[in-house]
Amino acid sequence: MSARSWLRRTYIERDRRERALREAMLAAGPACADTDAALFTAPDVFEPEPVAVRQDREAAAKKICAACPARTACLAYALAIRPTEGVWAGLSATEIRALSLYRPASEPGREVA
Ligand code: SF4
Repeated sequence: MSARSWLRRTYIERDRRERALREAMLAAGPACADTDAALFTAPDVFEPEPVAVRQDREAAAKKICAACPARTACLAYALAIRPTEGVWAGLSATEIRALSLYRPASEPGREVA
């Protein structure tokens, strides 16, 4: 298999996996479906959000996530897509990125020193 073909298959498979995770999250009944999306995402990059305002907004979003039936599916989806902003499964994008960097030692392919 050529490198180009391998790369194409890899992207197709990743896209398929992400779509399945997104559908699972939506099927689980996300609590944020009927709320203002602006509560979960940062404002426009040209309008910096003051730290205190962001903290309040994220805290309010995380409260909704805490009671969300789709939280586990949302976390799986967020770990797959690694968002750069917003609140997902009760975590900020920064917290999601930190979690996605963690891989248990038992995970296949991980080298243990
Ligand atoms: S966990 Fe939070 S961000 Fe994820 S679907 Fe539920 S309410 Fe929305």
